[in-house]
Amino acid sequence: MLRVEEALERILSEIGRLEPEAVALPEALGRVLAQSIASQEEVPPFANSAMDGYALRSEDTQAASARAPRRLRLVGTIQAGSVAERPVGPGEAMRILTGAPVPPGANAVIQQELTQTGEDWVEVQQPVAAGNNIRHPGEDIRRGTLVLQEGAVLGPSEIGVLASLGVAAVSVYRRPVVAILATGDELVEIHEGLRPGQIRNSNSYLVAAAVTLAGGIPRPLGIARDQVEELRAKLLAAEEADLIITSGGVSVGDYDLVKDIMRERGIIDFWRVNLKPGKPLAFGRLGGTPLLGLPGNPVSAAVTFELFARPVLRKMQGFTRLLRPVVQARLLDGFQEASNRRHYVRAHVEWREGGFVAATTGRQDSHILSSMLGANALLVIPEGSPPMQPGEMVQAMLLVEGLE
Ligand code: AMP
Ligand code: MG
Repeated sequence: MLRVEEALERILSEIGRLEPEAVALPEALGRVLAQSIASQEEVPPFANSAMDGYALRSEDTQAASARAPRRLRLVGTIQAGSVAERPVGPGEAMRILTGAPVPPGANAVIQQELTQTGEDWVEVQQPVAAGNNIRHPGEDIRRGTLVLQEGAVLGPSEIGVLASLGVAAVSVYRRPVVAILATGDELVEIHEGLRPGQIRNSNSYLVAAAVTLAGGIPRPLGIARDQVEELRAKLLAAEEADLIITSGGVSVGDYDLVKDIMRERGIIDFWRVNLKPGKPLAFGRLGGTPLLGLPGNPVSAAVTFELFARPVLRKMQGFTRLLRPVVQARLLDGFQEASNRRHYVRAHVEWREGGFVAATTGRQDSHILSSMLGANALLVIPEGSPPMQPGEMVQAMLLVEGLE
């Protein structure tokens, strides 16, 4: 049986990046830049004041002291957004507010707290150095600087910097459209009542939510009965998507038909991986579209989405870091179950006294979706590992966004 890493490598080798598209800057949040961006402007664009105070000529203040203050004549006010109507001459000062352009003739600003003022004068009690409280053009970003490279992930800071440069639209890699199909005669949709033998289709909702968080566009296609014609028809419609994700029907039961349709319309690359939960994971193609057949059990579907579907969606969007961060954590509670398969254990990890600690969140069976609640990590328990004792160190894959 394939190891998790081998399975992921085989999947990713079949996946390419999608084409770029232009989007308005606010829509670019969380996307990957498909172009490099050099600054066409200086930021800030002009010399301006860092303080509310008085713009003056440094030379006028060189002899100023508390004993012998230098009185300057006030010749106007300049606020942010306006420009001075006249220069500042020898013996003169101009009231200036933060962000206002430094008037011609002035070469320093003294903050107002350090001055005494009268109706038409200001007194300075110390020398003010040239350049004091002045923010220079290009001090943040010079014209011509390569600000962001192709492949950069656009977070709030990147969007802010691009806005400061007047970049209103950017080229980013397209978001993948993901067709999501649940399979099973026992399934009903969430607004329907349950009849005997039925359960609700929770997988499609979980997967759609996870697709959205991973940057994809979910296209839920409902439920296909365990019946070849219906499954074939629904999967045919799914071939338009960039990725097809099914759940259920990939095991070894008589009604596990997803593999049959894959064989019929495309190829099966593999359909089992040595992990728990989630062994019956199928990967292949339907027509030209990659298909990930997740297991039906809800936790298996959630875990295999994390391990395989999320990296696929990230690769399609141009991310270079595809995997979740992994940290070492000290296990607070023990973990009795030994397994020959790689085991991903639901846990809550937090920082405590200089290190991460991990506590499992409850029963680990693949149908106990409620123990995913409160879990922010999957502990990665190696193949063939014996039961774990409290205090042992484990690897924890953090299910947190934005740390990659
Ligand atoms: P299967 O892989 O089709 O044999 O399904 C394995 C288990 O997962 C069964 O108990 C199914 O009832 C359950 N299951 C399958 N699909 C879903 C779904 N969409 N939502 C919730 N549970 C499901
Ligand atoms: Mg089934």
